[in-house]
Amino acid sequence: MARSIRTIRTTQSLADNALVREEDLPVIREVAERYAVSITPAMHQIITGPDDPIARQFVPTGAELVIAPEERADPIGDDPFTPVKGITHRYPDRLLLKPMHLCPVYCRFCFRREVVGPGEGMLSAPEMEAALDYIRSRPEVWEVILTGGDPLLISPARLAPIMRALDAIDHVKVIRFHTRVPVVDPRRITDDLITALDTETPVWVVVHTNHSQELGDDARTALRLLSRNGIPLLSQTVLLKGVNDTPQALEDLFRTLVANRVKPYYLHHGDLAQGTSHFRTTITHGQDLMQNLRGRLSGTCQPTYVLDIPGGHGKVPIGPTYIHDTDTVNGSGAAHRVTDPWGTHHTYPPTPGPDAG
Ligand SMILES: *Cc1c(COP(=O)(O)O)cnc(C)c1O
Repeated sequence: MARSIRTIRTTQSLADNALVREEDLPVIREVAERYAVSITPAMHQIITGPDDPIARQFVPTGAELVIAPEERADPIGDDPFTPVKGITHRYPDRLLLKPMHLCPVYCRFCFRREVVGPGEGMLSAPEMEAALDYIRSRPEVWEVILTGGDPLLISPARLAPIMRALDAIDHVKVIRFHTRVPVVDPRRITDDLITALDTETPVWVVVHTNHSQELGDDARTALRLLSRNGIPLLSQTVLLKGVNDTPQALEDLFRTLVANRVKPYYLHHGDLAQGTSHFRTTITHGQDLMQNLRGRLSGTCQPTYVLDIPGGHGKVPIGPTYIHDTDTVNGSGAAHRVTDPWGTHHTYPPTPGPDAG
């Protein structure tokens, strides 16, 4: 298969690169008119066939035109929490700042697929100033989370003044980035970018990555560069059918992340974005996967499995439960039944032993 050295953005270049079949082009065109397409060379290079975990994430398919009744245009209810353009403020102590509506790649399961993509670009200078004014006026905002779109697509020259403005706000103690750039377009992690991120206020980076195959040599180098410059690294992963919904795929991903200085943070249950039902597993399957990982994987490799409750009600952990109340009352009062990592149940506190006084 010929390898494009340029980012693939059109249906014709998908066909030219044998990523979609000619006979599927009409339906792929329909999908691409609704939802943006972009596949970076770094991701294109590692695609081996239509069903591999990388192709499934980025190559559009007709399945995206199927909208399930429970799916929504605003799946996690951001709209009501938008006080000014570019800000989502749901939790008192932290908010999202979305300066950029473009991404290096467009994920076929994106929960913001209705609002990202070509045409929007960056917030205008006055819009950016209004967003910063909002943050300045809210002393309860302890953390600003730059997301998008992908905020690390912003050039270092344009990012630097945003960082300086945030750095100058006393009550903002942490600046967090949510990004795919270090993995899907790692050559953008340059010394100039590192310089732009070098603020007095600590910067944290949360990398979105869903499969160990995404973490090639260039991505590993980019992560190392960020880490060496004092930026703590976390990851977020979306649980995706046919991409990473097996114990082995998740184990490989989380081990690879920790071995590259990244702490797995969240495993997201798939949001109810329109045309994404072919990617969603059940919550029960997600819990089984998490339980399976508990016994066999270092604690440093364990993310929290979370659901963003539709309607803007926030994120909550939905992993398996290891402790249940029981009716049994022993000497110490109420007892619990605890499940160990291998599935055996135990009573807590334990029944008093022979040397109990
Ligand atoms: C996910 C999200 C956050 C960040 O939540 P954490 O649990 O701190 O990672 C903040 N604001 C909004 C609106 C979010 O959706």
